[in-house]
Amino acid sequence: MKETPLNERDIRAQVHRLKSLPRSEEQPWDVLREELIRTLWSHSENMEHATAIVTAVIDSARGETKFCPTPGELAAFAGGIAAAKQPEFSTGHTRCERCGDTGFVSIKRKVRASPAMPEREYEYSAVCSCRKPTEGAA
Ligand SMILES: [Zn+2]
Repeated sequence: MKETPLNERDIRAQVHRLKSLPRSEEQPWDVLREELIRTLWSHSENMEHATAIVTAVIDSARGETKFCPTPGELAAFAGGIAAAKQPEFSTGHTRCERCGDTGFVSIKRKVRASPAMPEREYEYSAVCSCRKPTEGAA
């Protein structure tokens, strides 16, 4: 899914959709609008997210809350609207820190072949714990 980066023109257009909602007389639209623009901007990850937030506000305004949100209410709304995420490429397990997802780790071990010989360090390959079969797995 292509995401549209935030831009001021589109944010203003989204906030303008809220203008149709009733609001208290003490809050002139010109003042409130700038606060809502700032709030929407700082709480949106991209334009799709910003649009979803404003749509949710308008949809809910058909019910009990018929008023234009304050910046605080808009921020609370934004927190409840998840931004659409890009599909993740990972297959579900997080990248392993031990093996870097290769499935193998190298283990160094000092081995003395015979009591008369000096210790030598050998390197072994081992299956990483992240690839070892778990309980119940075939
Ligand atoms: Zn691993």
